[in-house]
Amino acid sequence: MHVLILGGTTEGRVLAGLLAGAVRVTSSLAGRVAAPRLPAGEVRIGGFGGAEGLAAWVRQHGVDAVIDATHPFAERISFNAARAAATAHVPLLALRRPGWVPVEGDEWYEVGSLGEAAGLLGGVGERVFLTTGRMGLAAFAERSEWFLVRSVDAPDGPMPARVEVLLERGPFTLEGERELLARHRIDVLVTKDSGGAATAPKLAAAREAGVPVVVVRRPPVPVGVPTAATPEEAAAWVLRATDPVAGL
Ligand code: NAP
Repeated sequence: MHVLILGGTTEGRVLAGLLAGAVRVTSSLAGRVAAPRLPAGEVRIGGFGGAEGLAAWVRQHGVDAVIDATHPFAERISFNAARAAATAHVPLLALRRPGWVPVEGDEWYEVGSLGEAAGLLGGVGERVFLTTGRMGLAAFAERSEWFLVRSVDAPDGPMPARVEVLLERGPFTLEGERELLARHRIDVLVTKDSGGAATAPKLAAAREAGVPVVVVRRPPVPVGVPTAATPEEAAAWVLRATDPVAGL
């Protein structure tokens, strides 16, 4: 049995670890991060060449099931996975960690896109902690606020004029996030609703400090694709999906 995990997330890596002893596992990474944390099992790096390329790869490598464990905001590869799985007639599951929800004391502004987040800033804050990743910085390039940008690798495209870049990879601690907000006198945080524990402490630190948070909502999972919330749930699905007796 051969399972393809479209990865690039902690959950994808954990799932590969859970499955590696039981079935053949290949994890696929986009190749965006210079030194990625590698999962157990086989690893391939780089794009497939769209949905058709992915479907061809699935067929050529005898893949029996695909898990889309990509980041909740990696919209194109998830769409491609849905098309490719339908073309190649293999089962597909989306592994999506649950999104964050506001709790008492939070001041959240939910928006539908990075562009909308940028447009909202003027009325909310002047010193922005921007944690939406280095790929979407162009949306903020024309803004005049001061930005602290935190990303895993250095950004290289258009970005705001008044910017300091902090190269760091999570998990982050509440103590560290508190200190960061205070040191840079942050008065607004911008984040995607990535979910998960590794980057959640920034939300608690913002709540404590009375810092408002602009939250970019998630794109939907492609229609008809079942989802699992945890690697354990996804592993159970794989074992069912690849069991010729139990079926799906
Ligand atoms: P995207 O916009 O959905 O995908 C763009 C293209 O990158 C895809 O069409 C595909 O190229 C290739 N690709 C994406 N994920 C791939 C994978 N796991 N294996 C092979 N090719 C992949 O993706 P993105 O938002 O740029 O994210 C890229 C990767 O970074 C993903 O693996 C994601 O899990 C991870 N990541 C993304 C974010 C985020 O905020 N977007 C945050 C953390 C991690 P082809 O069409 O040529 O196949």
